[in-house]
Amino acid sequence: MEKIVSLCKCRGFIFPGSEIYGGLSNSWDYGPLGVELKNNIKQWWWKKFVQTRSDMVGIDAALIMNPKVWEASGHLKEFSDPLVECKKCHHRFRADELTEKKCPDCKGELAEAKQFNLMFKTFIGPSDDGENVAYFRPETAQAMFVDFKNVLDSSRLKLPFGIAQIGKAFRNEITLGNFIFRTREFEQMEIEYFFAPPDNEHDWQRIFEEWRAQMHSWFKDLGLAPEHIHELEVAPEKLAHYSKRTIDFEYDFPFGKSELYGLAYRTDFDLKNHYSEPPYREEGIAAVYPHCIEPTWGVDRSVLAVLCEAYAEESERVVLKLPAPLAPYKAAVFPLLKNKPELVVRAREIFEGLQKEMMVAWDERGNIGKRYFAQDEIGTPYCITVDFETLQDNAVTVRDRDTMTQERIQIANLSEFLRDKLV
Ligand code: ATP
Repeated sequence: MEKIVSLCKCRGFIFPGSEIYGGLSNSWDYGPLGVELKNNIKQWWWKKFVQTRSDMVGIDAALIMNPKVWEASGHLKEFSDPLVECKKCHHRFRADELTEKKCPDCKGELAEAKQFNLMFKTFIGPSDDGENVAYFRPETAQAMFVDFKNVLDSSRLKLPFGIAQIGKAFRNEITLGNFIFRTREFEQMEIEYFFAPPDNEHDWQRIFEEWRAQMHSWFKDLGLAPEHIHELEVAPEKLAHYSKRTIDFEYDFPFGKSELYGLAYRTDFDLKNHYSEPPYREEGIAAVYPHCIEPTWGVDRSVLAVLCEAYAEESERVVLKLPAPLAPYKAAVFPLLKNKPELVVRAREIFEGLQKEMMVAWDERGNIGKRYFAQDEIGTPYCITVDFETLQDNAVTVRDRDTMTQERIQIANLSEFLRDKLV
């Protein structure tokens, strides 16, 4: 983990937030390469689950919603964790995460556990009295229920269909840590997949299974090895207040097996709480409250899992074996020597041409070997070198990150060559 955190900082993936002011408890900022990796994950997800499916649409809702949303959804009452405080050192812990009855830090006596609501409070407008209290959303999901009628009325969707959203969520977590694994501010990619009220258990289980398979297909897309993924069937007494069934998908992070994503059957719980009348009508059929299955993905935990899986130390190099579509830079372009203007000009032309189509890096420092290793460390799949032969044969040397093999490619075919490899 330390090596990944350090690489992320040195190479501009992820920095401690507000670092020059001493940081802010477990807040992290995505740097120039991190934002590319994170955006690539989000874009790929959108393409897989929204763009290429005719039963899915997207929304992008406000982060601060009417507080009545959280009353209706049950979050104001139920969205809490049991908090215990040590009477001696005053450190605080989540009671359900403790394995012994004493303080893990100083072995002091622990006070009685009390429920601590995880929602982030704020105030709307200039006065900060109780009447103006509002909350930053603790999940993106509620907007899919609250906007359900508007989505329906403005589209021609028929059940079953899904509403997707990518966006920030906020939780005043009691315990933080493990880098970007658990933070107070994070991003989610969520889908509420609505279907007609089931006649029997099989009806919803079938859709649940379809989404379960989709989750595994996504793990494959991210390059996560199947043996690093584990399913945890959440016990009935531990289910969230809205769920009839939940599977947590866990990943073998370096700090242990922990939740990466979730899949829940939320029934008609949310729509029933938000709408006094059944919100879905189809001609000739009585209006109904659709049920829904919710697959949910943490963006930051996706970034972390992808980095952990891709990180490899080989005899002479550190390499991030990222799936090519996720790599921050798809290729790097080098002139063999930086003091030969004819090479630099030709390389610059190639670089600027490719830049119009994809993210590409430029490097002219040091020798070629060092440049290769620098690109390996940030996961760039291909390095393109312009040498003296290029000036004669209009071809470049393309070196593959994973196999380290090199081949000559005509400049005219370069963009097609890369595009073929990157999808
Ligand atoms: P945990 O048990 O780890 O607290 P959760 O079960 O409360 O997570 P969900 O409410 O199911 O999490 O949230 C959906 C997804 O959002 C999680 O699977 C995870 O990927 C992500 N997520 C939840 N809380 C955080 C957090 N504090 N920091 C980063 N990602 C988070």
